Amino acid sequence: MNEQEFIPLLQKLNLLSPSQRQRLHHSLESNETSTEEILAVKMALHQCPHCASTPLKPWGSSHGLPRYRCTSCFKTCNPLTKSPLARLRKRDKWLMYAQALIDGLSVRKAATLCGVDKNTAFLWRHRFLALINTRQALHEEGIVEADETFFLESFKGQRHLPRAPRRRGGVGKTRGTSDDQIPVLVVRDRHQSTATIILERVDAAHVKAALSPLVDKDAILCTDGAAVYKAFCQEAGITHEIIHSKGPRARGVFHIQNVNAFDSRLKGWIRRFHGVATKYLRNYLGWRRMLERYRTAITPEDCLLEAVGRTPQQLIQT
Ligand SMILES: [Zn+2]
Repeated sequence: MNEQEFIPLLQKLNLLSPSQRQRLHHSLESNETSTEEILAVKMALHQCPHCASTPLKPWGSSHGLPRYRCTSCFKTCNPLTKSPLARLRKRDKWLMYAQALIDGLSVRKAATLCGVDKNTAFLWRHRFLALINTRQALHEEGIVEADETFFLESFKGQRHLPRAPRRRGGVGKTRGTSDDQIPVLVVRDRHQSTATIILERVDAAHVKAALSPLVDKDAILCTDGAAVYKAFCQEAGITHEIIHSKGPRARGVFHIQNVNAFDSRLKGWIRRFHGVATKYLRNYLGWRRMLERYRTAITPEDCLLEAVGRTPQQLIQT
């Protein structure tokens, strides 16, 4: 770019919003650091991805990544081995793609941003999210809020619909009572540890299966008046605080405003995708949880590390 073009570009920087400024910053940063550097430094392998044994011996490098050899199975590996990003190409575009995920860009816009075709951007989206979607709270304690939310069942992208088509982005039958709504149980404690669990049905058995391994025995569970929660708490011996939808929204510290706020951010964010295919709903939920974990502070590097599944231990539970 020549100087005459550059000066007006600099002047325009004043017009950026704080979040645009941050994105520009990340984008400049990610142009300076290569994916290989991040993978080599932040994801040095300590355990064999083939047989889980230790230690690994440094074994030169290949395609810009350090290589290791396992002292027990003798196989070689690199930081991407067995991760969802193994064997994906165009590594130099991955950080840019991570920024597209952070910004919640459509497949088409992400493709344009990274200079890849639409199919690649689509493949990358779901490869990046494959591990991200598995990371959610495994244990919630203290005051725990739970509530269900619903997503319209969608066969988007599938050629053969198992039912008559609905008008694009249309509405289902009555909320939560028909078969074309997919229920998701949102559970969040006051440390913001969050789990979103897709339920087959909202009944006592499925709610119990979702909550039993998750909610601490000494927790206080706050929910609306739905009988399924009452049944679960009685059986599990967990203290239950019911917030009736018709009554006051909170009783002191007991309320379900955190799950409700999470749900409304989730719904507001997901709207941009104009309906998500039910078979990918888990990925979108994991994507949203990741953004929530970091709030606004997530960098393309964080996102890349999340996608490869080798993130700092302390984040795993949240
Ligand atoms: Zn091994």
